Formats: sequence, C-alpha cells, structure tokens
Amino acid sequence: MPKPIPHVNYDLSRPEHYCPGAEYGVEDPDATTLWPDDRSFDRAAEARPPVCRFCGERMERVTLGSTLTSNHPLFDEGWDQSREYYLLNCPYCCHWRFKACEAKAGCMTPVGLIDAHSVARKFDTPIPDGCAAEVAQQLRRDPTFWHSMPPRDMERFVADIFRANHRCAEVIHVGKPGDLGIDVLFVDAGGNDWLVQVKRRGTPDAVEGFDSLQRLLGTLALEGRLRGIIVTTAGRFSRPLFKQRARAEWRGFTIQLLDRGKLDRMLSPVLPVRPWLGLMGAGVLSLVDDDVRRHFITNTSDPRQLRLF
Ligand SMILES: [Zn+2]
Repeated sequence: MPKPIPHVNYDLSRPEHYCPGAEYGVEDPDATTLWPDDRSFDRAAEARPPVCRFCGERMERVTLGSTLTSNHPLFDEGWDQSREYYLLNCPYCCHWRFKACEAKAGCMTPVGLIDAHSVARKFDTPIPDGCAAEVAQQLRRDPTFWHSMPPRDMERFVADIFRANHRCAEVIHVGKPGDLGIDVLFVDAGGNDWLVQVKRRGTPDAVEGFDSLQRLLGTLALEGRLRGIIVTTAGRFSRPLFKQRARAEWRGFTIQLLDRGKLDRMLSPVLPVRPWLGLMGAGVLSLVDDDVRRHFITNTSDPRQLRLF
C-alpha cells in the first residue's frame, strides 16, 4: 500500500507588494503594484472579468472590506482598524486565490497581508486512495489527463465517481487481470447489480467500438446478469455499437454508455466544496469572523450544485 502524501491545499506567502487590481483579467502572480494605495482597483474590476488561468473558465470574484465598501454593515471599525478581503474562485476546476489586508488598532502594529492560492497535490502512480477530489481538479484543469492516467488508476477513479454520484449505492472496484473484463461492480439504490467495464483510451478523438459491447455481453451471459455499463474516456461510441446495443436490449439486457463528456459532468460531486474555507479557519487571518466567512460562502458556488448544462 503506497503511503499517501500529506495534503497541502494552499500555499501561503506574505508579499511586500500586493495588487488586487492585477487580478482582474487573467491572473498575474507577478503583480508589483502596491496595495491598498493603488486606487485603480475598482476601475479594473469593472473592465475585465477574471478568467481562471488553469481551465479558462470565468472565476467568481468576491470582495469585502471596510475601505472598499465604506459603511458596510460587517465593518464598523475606525480608520486604524480596517480589513479588506478578496477572493477569486473558479467553480469549474476549484482553483482559488485569496488576498487579505488586516490593519489592527495601534500605529505600531504591522499591517497583515495575506496572499494565498490553491496548490495541486502531486502523486506518484499508483495514485493513493482518497485522492479523488485532487484527480477531479486535475482533470478539469488538464483534460489530457483523461488519456494519460494509468488504466488501473482510471478504474479506481471511476469507482470514486460512481460513489460520489450515487450516495445510496454500493460500488466495489474489482478489476484485476483475468476478471472477464469487469472492473467495477455497481449495486444501485434499488439493489440491482451492474457490471462496469472501464476503457481508458489514449487519445481524445478515440471512438469506442462494438468489440467492447461484445465483450461485456459475453461476460453478462457467462455471469447470468442482465445489466452492464461501459465507461470510456473516448469521445463517443460507434454507430455499430449503438445498433447492437438496441438488439441486446430487445433480448432483455440493459446497457448504459458513459463517454468522456458524461464522465466530465459527473465530476462535480467529486470536487471539493469551497476549499479556501480551510484558510479562513487556519488562524492565519486574525480578524476573520463568522460574518465575513458567511459573506464569502453565500457569494460563491458549490460545485456540487453547479449546473453545467
Ligand atoms: Zn478553473
């Protein structure tokens, strides 16, 4: 059993130079303009929507501050006790960036500047157990990973996807050499057994052909089962496969087909929910309280509720 690598879900630094304005548009980690003296903040905010530098999707931007939004009900401190918080959150791949400036009372107290961003974990293969959320994020950021992940890791990850999408079902990864091509056993909420075959194809334009269905039907017949699922990282299934599936279903079999597009849509329940919240509770930010935390929660999406289509 490989040893899991310790989980680090954010990287923290205290930069001397700090520029939230540079965050609008594509993220610029090398921003050098001083903040909060840079008053271009609001103009830039209106001009360019933030874009995730990993997946290219639009990021959610949430700000909160006693100087940004004067008279905000959450902030009633004087001029020497101000706070500003700034979050960029990508609901598609879960990349995030969080910046904060906290000035406490007392002119000798240094201003606290926080600049944190998500960091992906790195794994050797086989990918350790319990890393499905990281694998899902990596797939959203780099879709070529669908085709380069080792096939056995893909089988285990498909089992994780089924578990996340079917809370009341039982999912067992059974794949091993000589197993008649069955990689996952899925028992749905109604107690029905499904034999699942996982095909990790090496290229995005691959087409899953009839031979995969033929092999699954052979196994179903030998095992005396009627329900099967073909999961593939290919972009689509072939016409002959669809044609023969219709014949098989006429004879009593039920065959579900999941291609890469459907798998990608099933990633949402596997993704972490607001991973940046861990930073707010880590004691790094001294002035974050429940009201601030709630403000960021209510203004960002939960990827599990994200409707992509
Ligand atoms: Zn993203």
